[in-house]
Amino acid sequence: MDFLRPTTWEEALAAKADRPDAVPIQGGTDVMVEINMDVRRPAALLDLNQVAELREWAMVGGMCRVGAAVPYARIIEELGGPLQGLAQAARTVGSPQIRNRGSVGGNLGAASPAGDSHPPLLAAGAVVEAESRERGVRMIPADEFYLGVKRSALEPDELIRAVHVRPATGPQYFSKVGTRNAMVIAVCSFAIALHPRERRVGTGIGSAAPTPRRAFDAEDLLARELDWNAPLDPALTRRFGELCARAAAPIDDVRGTAAYRVHAIGVLARRTLAWAWNDHLGRRAA
Ligand SMILES: Cc1cc2nc3c(=O)[nH]c(=O)nc-3n(C[C@H](O)[C@H](O)[C@H](O)COP(=O)(O)OP(=O)(O)OC[C@H]3O[C@@H](n4cnc5c(N)ncnc54)[C@H](O)[C@@H]3O)c2cc1C
Repeated sequence: MDFLRPTTWEEALAAKADRPDAVPIQGGTDVMVEINMDVRRPAALLDLNQVAELREWAMVGGMCRVGAAVPYARIIEELGGPLQGLAQAARTVGSPQIRNRGSVGGNLGAASPAGDSHPPLLAAGAVVEAESRERGVRMIPADEFYLGVKRSALEPDELIRAVHVRPATGPQYFSKVGTRNAMVIAVCSFAIALHPRERRVGTGIGSAAPTPRRAFDAEDLLARELDWNAPLDPALTRRFGELCARAAAPIDDVRGTAAYRVHAIGVLARRTLAWAWNDHLGRRAA
């Protein structure tokens, strides 16, 4: 197995262009498990750990541009305010060791339907910055990034440079069902982001379909019927939960049945909407 070790982003793009079969490795918390378990044996590994700029985040054009290698631990410590939903999800990932090594870029690269970053990125309307040596930068909206189980819109010669997330303008929540409280892959998960200026609510469903996905009909319902100055209407909350559950298309597997996941997505949707709405009204009253 060849081991490629670029020290700059330009070198990394050149290495991926010359060796599209090379598997990028960042924290290695997915890649090393797969190699150790013989799930795959790539011809080459492209180690991105020397590329310093991938570990940086900055505000760019009103968006928070989070480098692909920024680990969960730093998202929790440094971005818990502006990226509340993503930071909440990051707190549920693995263990402290995994949160120190694992990155959002790696979560996106793996594109597992159960990845915890995906629902908050969808709910917040994030955009993935991908780049190749031949075609330059490509901005891919999160809801166009996930194409199938562990399949993304990335081309073989592209790398993820960063993800752009607008800082929260309203409450955001992430909720995950697991078989225990820590070190657990989601049975299913749900994220919500209130966008009060646009009178819009964003959603993200995890681990309950072949890809992470938004509940578009549920978002449309709230865009039409939510009164942003009033307490939450219980009937509207119920219909929101039903439409979120209907947007799921899960399978039975070792972690849970499809029927349970559909039910749980409805519960998580109602619950997170109620939490977010309480915060929203509380902020208005303050
Ligand atoms: C014990 C344990 C517990 C875990 N718990 C959770 C959990 O609770 N929730 C969760 O979501 N995940 C969990 N994971 C999975 C893993 O930690 C996450 O998916 C993590 O985000 C991967 O990040 P990484 O930097 O380690 O990625 P890596 O393993 O380095 O890479 C992952 C994938 O992304 C690709 N990749 C990496 N960087 C780039 C790039 N810049 N451009 C293009 N492709 C790239 C790689 O080629 C690979 O396909 C767990 C893993 C372990 C071992």
